[in-house]
Amino acid sequence: MSSDNSSDDARQAWDVVVVGAGPAGASAAYAAAVAGRRVLLLEKAELPRYKTCGGGIIGPSRDSLPPGFELPLRDRVQAVTFSLDGKYSRTRRSSHMLFGLINRPEFDQQLVEHAQKAGAELRTGVTVSRVEQHGPAVPDRRTVAIVLQGGETLLARAVVGADGSASRIGAHVGVKVDQVDLGLEAEIPVPDSVAEDWAGRVLIDWGPMPGSYGWVFPKGDTLTVGVISARGEGAATKRYLEDFIARLGLAGFEPSISSGHLTRCRSEDSPLSRGRVLVCGDAAGLLEPWTREGISFALRSGRLAGEWAVRIAEAQDAVDARRQALNYAFAVKAGLGVEMSVGKRMLTVFERRPGMFHAALTGFRPAWKAFTRITRGSTTLAEIVRTHPVAGRVLNAMDR
Ligand SMILES: Cc1cc2nc3c(=O)[nH]c(=O)nc-3n(C[C@H](O)[C@H](O)[C@H](O)COP(=O)(O)OP(=O)(O)OC[C@H]3O[C@@H](n4cnc5c(N)ncnc54)[C@H](O)[C@@H]3O)c2cc1C
Repeated sequence: MSSDNSSDDARQAWDVVVVGAGPAGASAAYAAAVAGRRVLLLEKAELPRYKTCGGGIIGPSRDSLPPGFELPLRDRVQAVTFSLDGKYSRTRRSSHMLFGLINRPEFDQQLVEHAQKAGAELRTGVTVSRVEQHGPAVPDRRTVAIVLQGGETLLARAVVGADGSASRIGAHVGVKVDQVDLGLEAEIPVPDSVAEDWAGRVLIDWGPMPGSYGWVFPKGDTLTVGVISARGEGAATKRYLEDFIARLGLAGFEPSISSGHLTRCRSEDSPLSRGRVLVCGDAAGLLEPWTREGISFALRSGRLAGEWAVRIAEAQDAVDARRQALNYAFAVKAGLGVEMSVGKRMLTVFERRPGMFHAALTGFRPAWKAFTRITRGSTTLAEIVRTHPVAGRVLNAMDR
């Protein structure tokens, strides 16, 4: 759906313009719209659009959804098969649902509809080329110019950049990353007999390259099969996916979609704002470094960005705008930042000793329990390390 009031848009400044309608952008637009502000959500694709993603919804993602949002679950996971590069396979089961699985086009579209119901306006099929905070396109110091491909310029009191891992708004803000990974995925339609075998169960395979892993996420008649590894090993990552699919006996089924996407994790000193522009989600490099879980990071940082963008929109001068932007950065760092730093340490240990992770999860009950509690959202990795001194000491010892 696209609105057709572009000439009005050009004259009147929006309170908040959000760039990108993934989970981060839809959350930001929702948060700013429920606060009663004039919000415009810009998306370059037509919706629903495909996004390379496993679609795993862990507890923190479920808990960050807007009120009244019904998750379009394709499956409920109650069992996990772990393997170490195809070997030592073991399945662990839980009496509770561990996490849910969704299809991203459906999930993202539904989030956008929620933002629209809250009052946000949507324009699809528009690519933002750049934002300008000074110069002739900016009529007064309290506005930001958003320049679209084709030359049209919109004005806003605050901008939220939620345009994903190749973010243009992130480049404007100066986002710095210290981890870039390549994820490859295939959506594989399978016959009923194969689908039944996977129902309610995922596979996680600790991969052959340091820090890599693969997954099978069942979604009814389709399996999402993917792998992720450090960028720069494209050929080896591709081979890993091919071997993974082959040894699962799935090579005979033609994927309906094969795609790849980069994930990027911010460095600790990376900015989260510049002037009246905030970044969130993948655009800000907010992602769990070990698992590369990003939906909960997008939903949580998106909501915070929307809330603080409202305050920036109200700011009468640069000092006040800066104060609100710093508050946003503080809120992100205090929550997601802490989770990311623990995740980075986990990744370092996992890169060196994947076999130990495998042995712990398959053979050591407290490790499996911790996994189930984290995926269900009753705790976080950071919380476990903070409240269990032994866990912190083990991580410290292995981190060296
Ligand atoms: C292979 C793989 C598997 C993954 N699996 C999981 C998983 O199972 N669970 C999980 O939690 N996370 C997973 N992730 C991470 C997750 O997909 C991302 O962290 C999440 O999509 C981030 O959401 P976002 O809203 O920040 O960005 P995106 O979802 O990328 O949305 C950005 C939006 O901005 C739009 N856009 C981009 N540029 C412009 C522009 N210039 N103008 C206008 N619009 C623009 C794009 O079209 C897009 O719709 C996975 C990632 C990969 C690569």
